[in-house]
Amino acid sequence: MATAEYTKRFRDKRKALNRCVLCGKQDERTLSGYALCNKCAEKQRQYKQKLKEQHRCTQCGEQDERTLSGLCFCKFCTKKAKLLYRERKYTDRGTEK
Ligand SMILES: [Zn+2]
Ligand SMILES: [Zn+2]
Repeated sequence: MATAEYTKRFRDKRKALNRCVLCGKQDERTLSGYALCNKCAEKQRQYKQKLKEQHRCTQCGEQDERTLSGLCFCKFCTKKAKLLYRERKYTDRGTEK
């Protein structure tokens, strides 16, 4: 909890300074509100593209029947994303429909 809080604050701080959350650099992309600079965004895009070409999960790099059938996430990450979504939905309940 303490570590997560620290990471969040650290990220918020960098974001507040309009710096890339990965490398800390500042460019027109981070200045316009993005969390990543051009270089890191491109790197991440290429990395994900490569994973996808190899039929691997773009989240964790694993390969299973889901990723092999062309999906971006493996079974595990899909489940994780769903749980996160449900959690968020639960948290937001009452404020949104
Ligand atoms: Zn960067
Ligand atoms: Zn995965």
